[in-house]
Amino acid sequence: MHEWALAEAIIYTVTEIAEREGFREILSVNVKVGELQQVDLETIKFALTQLKRGKLEKAEFKVETVKAKLKCRICGEIWDFDKDKLDEEVAEAIHFVPEVAHSFIKCPKCSAQDFEFMEGRRMYIESVGGIR
Ligand SMILES: [Zn+2]
Repeated sequence: MHEWALAEAIIYTVTEIAEREGFREILSVNVKVGELQQVDLETIKFALTQLKRGKLEKAEFKVETVKAKLKCRICGEIWDFDKDKLDEEVAEAIHFVPEVAHSFIKCPKCSAQDFEFMEGRRMYIESVGGIR
């Protein structure tokens, strides 16, 4: 049911944007989901089509994943989190507990294991299009 709660949050936020920006009708919404979010995109899309109403009635929702990025806390290096390079078991562990990554991943520049996830753990609305 996590997906439905997220879909409701998206609808709520887009409705607020529509009010604030003075849209009469919303026609397109692009949503980005971090690849580390444990959500099913198809379920979110389905939930969105079920929940849309009012100014969002005709909106087409595009839901896409965003690659996770890591940032070294020591030297500031930013690199892509490439889970295809990890063993399947490790990748799975990181998916559920991203903190596990610290035992397996090093900064490519300074080898520090002190880093943070920049993208990949959140969901956001990238753009909204409509008729004013
Ligand atoms: Zn570093």
